[in-house]
Amino acid sequence: MPSDSAVPPFEIRPSSMQGLGAFATHHILAGVRLIEYAGERLTPAEADARYPDVDGERHHTFLFAIDDDVVIDAAVNGNDARFINHSCDPNCDAVIDDGRIWIETIRDVAPGEELAYDYAYVLEERHTPAAKRRFPCHCGAANCRGTILAKKR
Ligand SMILES: [Zn+2]
Repeated sequence: MPSDSAVPPFEIRPSSMQGLGAFATHHILAGVRLIEYAGERLTPAEADARYPDVDGERHHTFLFAIDDDVVIDAAVNGNDARFINHSCDPNCDAVIDDGRIWIETIRDVAPGEELAYDYAYVLEERHTPAAKRRFPCHCGAANCRGTILAKKR
């Protein structure tokens, strides 16, 4: 039987932001490592071959690039971390530690609050308005930038 600490303090259910989301089942302190972003490890070329970009189409995958060499595909062998949505005003962050991705709280989270982190996707191409439309954000935060793409320098 798993100990309490092995059970993530959240549940997966429908979200007003998008699809399913992860919701705190009780109060979670800031700085808690919640869950690993698990999945199959691919090279960027393998990920591109598996999910070719289609012009003008809304983008949705469970890919997470760790660095230039490794992409995690949570659609294969993934866990509940893949349901954690993006927010432009997040209560969690994705932390890369020794080649693995962990979702950690960055502030206290109240019971029932949806967990989210800033996906901050970076594309090879320019982040044009058309590109941003392929990666829309509907997080509802006052500072929502309308896209899950990162700001480019
Ligand atoms: Zn947003």
